[in-house]
Amino acid sequence: MDKLSKENKEYLIKRNTNEYEVVIGLEVHAQVLSESKLFSTSPTKFGSEPNTQVSLVDVAFPGMLPVINEFCIKQAIKTGIGLNAKINKKSIFDRKNYFYADLPQGYQISQYKNPIVGEGTVTLDLPNGEKKIGIERLHLEQDAGKSIHDIDPNNTLVDLNRSGVALMEIVSKPDLRSLDEVNSYIKKLRSIMRYLGTCDGNMQEGSLRADVNVSVRKKGSKELGTRCEIKNVNSIKFMQMAIDYEANRQVDVIEEGGSIDQETRLFDTKKNETRSMRSKEDAHDYRYFPDPDLLPLELDENFINDIKKNIPELPDEKKKRFIEKFKLSPYEANILVSDIDTSKFFEEVSKNSDVKLATNWITGELFALLNEKNLEITESPISSKNLSKLINLIKKGIISGKIAKTIFELMSDGDKDPEKIVEQKGLKQQSDPKELEKIIDKIISENPKNVELYKSGKDKLFGFFVGQVMKSSGGKANPQLVNEILKKKLN
Ligand code: ADP
Ligand code: MG
Repeated sequence: MDKLSKENKEYLIKRNTNEYEVVIGLEVHAQVLSESKLFSTSPTKFGSEPNTQVSLVDVAFPGMLPVINEFCIKQAIKTGIGLNAKINKKSIFDRKNYFYADLPQGYQISQYKNPIVGEGTVTLDLPNGEKKIGIERLHLEQDAGKSIHDIDPNNTLVDLNRSGVALMEIVSKPDLRSLDEVNSYIKKLRSIMRYLGTCDGNMQEGSLRADVNVSVRKKGSKELGTRCEIKNVNSIKFMQMAIDYEANRQVDVIEEGGSIDQETRLFDTKKNETRSMRSKEDAHDYRYFPDPDLLPLELDENFINDIKKNIPELPDEKKKRFIEKFKLSPYEANILVSDIDTSKFFEEVSKNSDVKLATNWITGELFALLNEKNLEITESPISSKNLSKLINLIKKGIISGKIAKTIFELMSDGDKDPEKIVEQKGLKQQSDPKELEKIIDKIISENPKNVELYKSGKDKLFGFFVGQVMKSSGGKANPQLVNEILKKKLN
């Protein structure tokens, strides 16, 4: 049943979009940006030698006691505020019991019935408008260690560096309906947390991973289908591939008269398919109970309010401000606010130059350059200061847009000052009417036939004259002035 031939799969995708709707809910595990772990003082640096960031608490030596890291609590509250969610004044840490080689405690400390953050919403910016996705809750929990199966052929090795690292599990409502919405949701969550500085969102390093819940139902049906949960998917592309495969598999089962078993599945990135791992465990299988080593977490109003006061401007507000203040289109604003570093760069450039030109140059030439060199905007070869200088040169008519592109290219080699490039290379736009008149007179006297033809009604020849003037000025003539003077002279 799991294996579908290619033709069959394509057929299903078609059938799926015609008759079925896919319903998706995500449990995102976001690593809290913090220098130490949730219940110990061990560091959390990525990429360290195995088992070098481990304290007696993290390896669960008998008698060791967890101590709550206040900073991680603040990070979770900040994130909750960013998700427009209710912050619960009382939350409880529970033990979730299970056995695994990379879990020396024999249980994970998590939050079950009483999470630190309750219901909230995230707004997606989709091509056809906005859509709100419900958040069910956000709870804090510890990460487990990592089992390594591919170093020693006969043994499994364990690295406990991750053991005890703080995670926020952000659980969405089953409100997502397509691969594009999943893409947009993950990007938005990431963007919000990066604005807040609560998670670096680095998916390659595993700072953001998700369990993906998928079900299908006939279009128009009000009831949800039975879901399958695909564990631990660590890139947006893999999430989309897993959902696509899984939705089609479920449609296939239903169409053949079968029914979906609620189960936990694994996505095989090499074979591009999901496989059954185990039937879905129930909460009671974990024997959750409040951790007797930790008191319930009680927050007072002032503690929460102090955090609220220091929340920075978030992407949705920034987008609104950019639209109102700078008169950007929602599309442009989305592009500029989605990444906090891009928004900072834009604000630096536009502070000292024309907003419209700043928008166009950043989303056009600069993005293309960064793309080509595979760089982040924080690594931009052209600084915001020099880009705003370039824009001012255009705005003041000192250089033409066309010449600006040449200068931009020169600038990208070591962040050169555009004003100096203009000086050194003599690229100033010719805007002196007397100088331009000289060139124009020359062109007119050299092309008497064309002048005659133009005067007899061949309007199209105007372009020819402009072209000749531009050519003879080495592209430096101010095109607007050339137009004006030429019109006067020819008419
Ligand atoms: P569990 O720990 O059992 O996985 P959670 O409450 O933590 O339960 O998460 C359940 C996730 O599954 C949520 O993201 C929710 O939106 C999603 N979900 C629930 N029902 C469905 C369904 N029928 N189809 C798709 N997703 C669903
Ligand atoms: Mg789950």
